[in-house]
Amino acid sequence: MMTEMDILSEDLNNAGLRSTLPRLRILKILEESRVRHLSVEDLYDELRQENQAVSLATIYRVLSQFVDAGLVVRHQFEGNKAMYELNDDEHHDHMVCLKCGTVIEFMDQKIEVLQKQVADDHEFEMQDHSLTLFGICKFCQ
Ligand SMILES: [Zn+2]
Ligand SMILES: [Zn+2]
Repeated sequence: MMTEMDILSEDLNNAGLRSTLPRLRILKILEESRVRHLSVEDLYDELRQENQAVSLATIYRVLSQFVDAGLVVRHQFEGNKAMYELNDDEHHDHMVCLKCGTVIEFMDQKIEVLQKQVADDHEFEMQDHSLTLFGICKFCQ
C-alpha cells in the first residue's frame, strides 16, 4: 500500500528531485488546494495553519526548483506578485480580477484556432502562448 506521502515523493523523484520535508509539504498543498493559483504568501499561511511552518525563503527556493523541474508553472499576473499552479499539461488561459485578485481559468477553442491562424499569417511557428485578460469579476462589479 502506497501512502499519500509515498505518491508525493514519487512525483518528486519522477521530476528529478529528492524528497525533502519542505518539498513534500509544499507539493501536497499545491495538489490539494481548492484554489489552483497560489502566491508564496498563500502557501506560507497554509503551512502555518497546519503547524508546519516553513520559512518564506525556503518556499521561494522550493518553488523555483519545482518550476525548473516542470512540476509547477509560475505566472506573473499583475504587479510583482507571482502566482504558482501545478503543471497538469492541460492548456488554459486566465482572467484576473484587478480588485480581488481572483483568477478564472478558461479555454475557448475559437480563440485557440484564431491565435494559430494569426501566427501562421505572420509565418510564425507558435510553440506556446499565454493569454491573460485583466478586469473586474462579477462579484466586484
Ligand atoms: Zn473580484
Ligand atoms: Zn491556471
